[in-house]
Amino acid sequence: MGTDVNAITERIYEDVLRRNPAQPEFHQAVREVLDSLAVVLARHSEFAELKTVERICEPERQIIFRVPWQDDRGEVHINRGFRVEFNSALGPYKGGLRFHPSVNLGIVKFLGFEQTFKNALTGMPIGGGKGGADFDPKDRSDTEVMRFCQSFMTELYRHLGEYTDVAAGDIGVGGREIGFLFGQYKRITNRYESGVLTGKGVGWGGALVRTEATGYGAAFFASEMLKVRGDSLDGKTVAVSGAGNVAIYAIEKVEQLGGKAVTASDSSGYVVDERGIDLEVLKQVKEVERARISAYADRVPTARFVAGGSVWDVPCQVAIPSASQNELDSHAAVTLVRNGCQVVVEGANMPCTPEAVKVFQEAGVAFGPGKAANAGGVATSALEMQQNASRDRWTFEHTEARLEEIMREIHASCHATAEEYGAPGNLVLGANVAGFLRVAEAVHAHGLI
Ligand code: GLU
Repeated sequence: MGTDVNAITERIYEDVLRRNPAQPEFHQAVREVLDSLAVVLARHSEFAELKTVERICEPERQIIFRVPWQDDRGEVHINRGFRVEFNSALGPYKGGLRFHPSVNLGIVKFLGFEQTFKNALTGMPIGGGKGGADFDPKDRSDTEVMRFCQSFMTELYRHLGEYTDVAAGDIGVGGREIGFLFGQYKRITNRYESGVLTGKGVGWGGALVRTEATGYGAAFFASEMLKVRGDSLDGKTVAVSGAGNVAIYAIEKVEQLGGKAVTASDSSGYVVDERGIDLEVLKQVKEVERARISAYADRVPTARFVAGGSVWDVPCQVAIPSASQNELDSHAAVTLVRNGCQVVVEGANMPCTPEAVKVFQEAGVAFGPGKAANAGGVATSALEMQQNASRDRWTFEHTEARLEEIMREIHASCHATAEEYGAPGNLVLGANVAGFLRVAEAVHAHGLI
């Protein structure tokens, strides 16, 4: 049976490679899930008969469109917009929009694929999707960003809807962009359809805690992983990469839970502050001024800026990579292990390369995969949708308590599934299998569509 099952996953992978050329990130995300699914296929022969895995690896719909816009000097730019509606078995497509020059179809597909499993793990009624554009918001004025968002939404709006596809933010798309996108959607449709976008401003339909949710959720997840080891975040030195929304609020919650986050980074390098990152300064530099991370070290005397270096050289007990995909390779993983790192939690989507994950697993380092550990963001988006649908508004405390409970449940379900399928402690396998089973059950119930 074992060889048959491996032959099935190999054939599926070969097909994915052949039919989706030049999409390495998508291949990587599929490969990781397939490696976890052999044990499931061995127990459930119906998945092979009904080609369930093949169906889940194929997006339901892929949209690519032109986004023309003019900069402040009147120069014309043409960008490419995407929305991949990956899977709607559990609910309307749900997932963020990424604005970054690296965005292409393969990146959006990898993110949409991950999102499908992540959203299933939250236990909320949301399918998986992702979108974005190869637009670079860096050094663009507010009016340029507004014109871009308006042009982007002028095409995207026809694909969205509270019951169809609900977008949100990701890298390069925060509160400012969601505001412009929502305004244009409202103008075109003449509908105040709050539930069509999440991450809205709290004064106009947004949920409290949504801004903090991904980072807070990752810290809660780290704390659950430590609890299983009879430990806690209290007194731990934590290295965090990135300086965006995920990193900032991971640092905030780590500090609230008694840990000491000592790093932050961006594409120019990293800062290390042995006293613990000063959040007021970090927020001012990154959220208000949108400046480079070196500005933090210019203002905080205890901090040091390292241009172009690897943040993973900084000794820590817990690492929370929260920048971008494949930022932490096997070389960095070896350094982290050598420096005594015990727990790695993915705040970003797929920040660790497969080789790095292997290094952690072989060294007995607890590893929390992004689709479980960073699910707090989208889970809180689902709570925002819930508040919009009931025209209600929850308190910060209530919403945060729900987030914490959801993260605890996600961890428990990944942990229990890993045990049940013969891989105790392997949260990668636990997350992939638990997410897959939820999606697969709904896929089967809906017939061959
Ligand atoms: N972009 C976030 C993620 O990777 C959040 C998506 C959402 O809230 O819909 O999960």
